[in-house]
Amino acid sequence: MQEINIDLVANILGIVPFKESNGEYYAKCPFCGDNRGKFSYTVIKKNKYHCWKCGNSGNQFKLYSELKNLDLNLEDSREFKKCVNLIHQELNGKTQPFKYETSFIGNSVKQSNRACDEKLNIAYKALLSQLQLNKYHKDNLFKRGLSEQHIAEIGFKTIQGNGNLLTKQLLLQKIDLNGVPGFFKENNSWKLKYSKGYLCPVYRDHMIIGFQIRVDEPKNGCKYLWLSSAGKENGCTSGGRFTYLKGKKNVTLITEGILKATICYELLDKQFSVIGVPGVDVLNDFKENGIGLIKNDFVFECYDMDKKPYSGYNEKTLKKVQSAQHKLHNILEKSNIKYTSLVWDFSNGIWKGNYKGLDDYLSEKNNIQTVIDYINNYTKNVSNNK
Ligand SMILES: [Zn+2]
Repeated sequence: MQEINIDLVANILGIVPFKESNGEYYAKCPFCGDNRGKFSYTVIKKNKYHCWKCGNSGNQFKLYSELKNLDLNLEDSREFKKCVNLIHQELNGKTQPFKYETSFIGNSVKQSNRACDEKLNIAYKALLSQLQLNKYHKDNLFKRGLSEQHIAEIGFKTIQGNGNLLTKQLLLQKIDLNGVPGFFKENNSWKLKYSKGYLCPVYRDHMIIGFQIRVDEPKNGCKYLWLSSAGKENGCTSGGRFTYLKGKKNVTLITEGILKATICYELLDKQFSVIGVPGVDVLNDFKENGIGLIKNDFVFECYDMDKKPYSGYNEKTLKKVQSAQHKLHNILEKSNIKYTSLVWDFSNGIWKGNYKGLDDYLSEKNNIQTVIDYINNYTKNVSNNK
């Protein structure tokens, strides 16, 4: 039997790469339609695909099952076998060959446009009001340094159980689910697509405009998945948006990751605004909608400390992180925004390796005041030197 690698699956599905680099193939994203190279797949790194625009990711079997709308639970061995069999049948010409070609989404599945932020906020806050936070998830958030009050304010909630029931409750409240990522239609009734875990709200000021899920069982090494119904009937992509929490001072910290940003904001006592971009390199939304929010602020870039050399670092990985960091710096420079790069757990040009993210550093209570004082002194000196 032929080995089913992601190359083969992409081929069956009619995904045609337009570029190859170091074994990574770049193609038009079959989920969100991005054709600027945000979607890529690779055989050499365990048959994975990923789209930096819509966040859809997984292995060859997920790619097949998602694009064919098979709705299979691939963790279930029987359903997994079903997926493998379907691929084999297709390879042997026993079923009609399937090609998504260039307009798969347009032709086969009618997706919705994302609703405006006001509508998302209403739907998502109604969703949160239906949910609780379980002890296991609460303990996870405590370990990250958050208090009971922080957790309640942000609105972290566990998502599990019957999605149909949740959807029903929202419809009873006359909530419009059209264009709300996560929701989609099946046989004319609304459904919710999610993975078990806890919801991390993505804020734009006081509005909730999306969710990342800290999943209980990481999928293909991914601990954070978007609440998204991309590729589903009347479904909608999350859009990979940044979170923005407004602070008291004209200072903004930019971190990588939604949860990370939220934790930094709360632990620094909401003194500073915090932006969390979905990934070091996922800056489209920030470029379009972030600059306006911070144009009068002094900015501290707070990307993880693997932006600096550390003991046993890999030259290639470091370069990749640094190039993403420079991309952010360039955007700030072009917009005439004053900024500096913040470092911690750092001496003699080397990251000591104890705290990777700023959130990790702040989870040690003694470090909180150190960071607040440093930022306040730095910005005071900058404005004195004007
Ligand atoms: Zn995509």
